Amino acid sequence: SAIAEQWSRGALMFLSRRTGLKDWATRLPPLKKLSRRFVAGETLDEAMDAVKALTAQGLSASFDHLNEAVKDAAETREEVREYRRLLARIDQTGVRANVSLKLTQCGLLLDEALALENARQVVADATSRGSFVRIDMEHGAVTQVTLDIVRKLHAEFGEPHVGAVLQSCLRRTEADARALCDERVRIRLCKGAYLEREAIAYPDKADVDASFVRCMKVLLDSGVYHGIATHDERMIDATLEHAARRGLPRGAFEFQMLHGIRADLQRQLADQGHPVRVYVPYGRHWYPYLMRRMAERPANLAFVLKNLARG
Ligand code: FAD
Repeated sequence: SAIAEQWSRGALMFLSRRTGLKDWATRLPPLKKLSRRFVAGETLDEAMDAVKALTAQGLSASFDHLNEAVKDAAETREEVREYRRLLARIDQTGVRANVSLKLTQCGLLLDEALALENARQVVADATSRGSFVRIDMEHGAVTQVTLDIVRKLHAEFGEPHVGAVLQSCLRRTEADARALCDERVRIRLCKGAYLEREAIAYPDKADVDASFVRCMKVLLDSGVYHGIATHDERMIDATLEHAARRGLPRGAFEFQMLHGIRADLQRQLADQGHPVRVYVPYGRHWYPYLMRRMAERPANLAFVLKNLARG
């Protein structure tokens, strides 16, 4: 029922923030097994294999090294080194991929100046290689500072090298979409994966979906290259319909989906000639990412519970 679903979502989102539990939880075999569906592996080599397979199917990718709970500045510097290794590997192997980066892994919750400097180094490296860094969007408390940092990086490195993410669940997003499009910032539009307060976010899914469609139209009408990130066929149909109405050619924007979700739809859109990018997360720190994926779908939780009960 809707209430049970809301309850399990709330509980899982709560657990996703309890990183103290993760050492215990990540050893549970059913959770580890489920993580294999959503996370490409713990190492860059495993993620590279997943991306090579996508490239062979005509799909492009965005790598994401998971680590949102960094403890100190030294750990954030290690994240920068990982992204530079990653960008070098993309260059060497010629896979069709860019990278997605979270500001928390750059140290946003420790020191904003440190996060900006770390993100700057990653974007500078990507720029020198002709690549692109998508700055992921996290919970509502960091929306403004995240957009501020993206704007600084965009002013320094330019449209083809860094872009933002907007979440249609937030009430502010349509206004943000208009402003960023005017500034020619590339946007990934998604629904939003974090539990937010009603003061800043729509509590009803129908409103989140309606906001997604309004924002999608702002993006498609802007003439900037954006990403429409969803597995919701109704959102995808609305996007295709709007693009057709505006006479946009294929390739004016891209669809984006997550590794492990709706691979059939990813291939189908690519076969129809639409650019499709798959978000490929990897690394040891997959716990909060997996909990967000579980919160989106009670069936994922049922899978874990069933396997736990089986032992
Ligand atoms: P929903 O209505 O949630 O789902 C539609 C259908 O998709 C479902 O019926 C189901 O078939 C399938 N599906 C969706 N989620 C799951 C799941 N977990 N397991 C199995 N099937 C599922 N969120 C952020 O807050 N910040 C980001 O930076 C961010 N980046 C993203 C990047 C990409 C490329 C994508 C695709 C999503 C990203 N998200 C991000 C997550 C996003 O906000 C949603 O939480 C997520 O995509 C689910 O929403 P949906 O649009 O697929 O629609």
